[in-house]
Amino acid sequence: MFIETLHIVPAGPSRKNSTVVYSTCKYPFHVRSYLIMEQALWMTLSKGTLCAYDRNSIIFRSNDRAILPVTTNERPKNLTMRTCKLSHITLFLAVFLITTSGPLALAQKADSKTTISTAANKVEPKVITWRRDIHEHPELGNRELRTAALVAKHLQSLRIEVTTNVAVTGVVGILKGGQPGPVVALRADMDALPVLEKTGLPFASKVKAEYNGQESNVMHACGHDSHVAILMGVAEILSGMKKDLKGTVKFIFQPAEEGAPKGEDGGAELMVKEGVLENPKVDVIFGLHINAQLEVGKITYRPGGMFAGVGDLKITVKGRPSHGAEPWSSVDPIVVSAQIINSLQTVVSRNLNITNNAGVVTIGAIHGGNRGNIISEQVEMLGTVRTFSNEDEKLVFDRIRLITEKTAEAAGAVAIVELPYSTHYPVTANDVALTNAMLPSLQKSAGKENVILVPAETGSEDFSFFAQKVPGLYFYIGGLPKGKDSKTSASHHTPEFFIDESGFRTGLNALSNLVIDYMAMNKK
Ligand SMILES: [Zn+2]
Ligand SMILES: [Zn+2]
Repeated sequence: MFIETLHIVPAGPSRKNSTVVYSTCKYPFHVRSYLIMEQALWMTLSKGTLCAYDRNSIIFRSNDRAILPVTTNERPKNLTMRTCKLSHITLFLAVFLITTSGPLALAQKADSKTTISTAANKVEPKVITWRRDIHEHPELGNRELRTAALVAKHLQSLRIEVTTNVAVTGVVGILKGGQPGPVVALRADMDALPVLEKTGLPFASKVKAEYNGQESNVMHACGHDSHVAILMGVAEILSGMKKDLKGTVKFIFQPAEEGAPKGEDGGAELMVKEGVLENPKVDVIFGLHINAQLEVGKITYRPGGMFAGVGDLKITVKGRPSHGAEPWSSVDPIVVSAQIINSLQTVVSRNLNITNNAGVVTIGAIHGGNRGNIISEQVEMLGTVRTFSNEDEKLVFDRIRLITEKTAEAAGAVAIVELPYSTHYPVTANDVALTNAMLPSLQKSAGKENVILVPAETGSEDFSFFAQKVPGLYFYIGGLPKGKDSKTSASHHTPEFFIDESGFRTGLNALSNLVIDYMAMNKK
């Protein structure tokens, strides 16, 4: 991106009919029309994108290189000079065109996008530094004390109102804009995973911590370190625009997205319970996830169900034990469990209308017996269920319960179904109207060709608890290095999980543009 400042100095007695433009720009340009309205100077250039600032400088964009804008009345040395005299008639025409046919609105949009993009470029090195620091010091769910302190300190330095210890370790920041308007929430999750890092990065984690009673290695193996750093950057960008902000931004730094430790509450569900969407009441919420399998610079999204709702499952089958050589004396819970597992395969294939939505029923663990010649007393099974609507969830849950209980009963055994067992996330549904309305913001952040509609995923996200209460939009940004094959890159939650930090800029622009554009569209 190429950003250049042009210095405009009045040449005649009236600045309204004559202008001298000094430029550091190596490309030819001409001022075709200009207009001074209130404090703003609007100009139409023959090349590049129009942006405008005050009477002394404008920003000119093209696509080659970047120079940060300089605002000064002094004529810089070694510059080419162009003179453009504008007649009263040209000015009149410009006023007419600008005020009647809408270019002013276009100019304003281009302006906020450019301001955001310039600020994003400026804050990007800091975002990378924060991310590396957080990556080197990962913390498990509900234990994100250091991360939370880092976030709180940064928000306070931006004069954002901060509340800490929300839902255990969460941090909430409130940025009140200079003008009234809606409350827009932005969410980043902060927790890491019990994974041993094997990336070999200079800032790789060496951290160990207690996980469910055992010492475990800890790694940011899902990219939540990126989310925290990006949202800290967005806070800096939007605080820089505070005066012109038409509403309030609520920054939600959430603990324990991957689940709270055993016996503890946490995550988005607890944040909602503690009232994070109230005072001030949130109108909409936006969030993102970096994706190690999506090329940097790209965004993927989906209106409606984007991630599945999840309910985990525990089934206990109680039979009657006997000697393995005399099975007629037993009610064999292993045989019953095998029948149950097979019958559960029909829930998705025979009960769910798969032309509407997909669904998954998986039994991932089974335990029963300890010797080949003993028929055991009971079997325990663990599983997971994924669906994409509340109706589908009810249907699938009901069928699992009925099939399991009745199959056991037919064999003279008893089956106890715990569904959901411990984890229960609703489907992560993007509000369709909001998604459609905000699509242009995503497109201008990443380029239209880089914003891609994708099928739903059977993974899950506790962002769903926010999006259940207020309209939400959640999307992916790319973290896969350009040219690298997504099939051979390490997946999330694995020791070699890797994120290309050049993808952060897309996140900085997207979240900031969403806020500004939503506020512009929903004035109060
Ligand atoms: Zn994850
Ligand atoms: Zn994640």
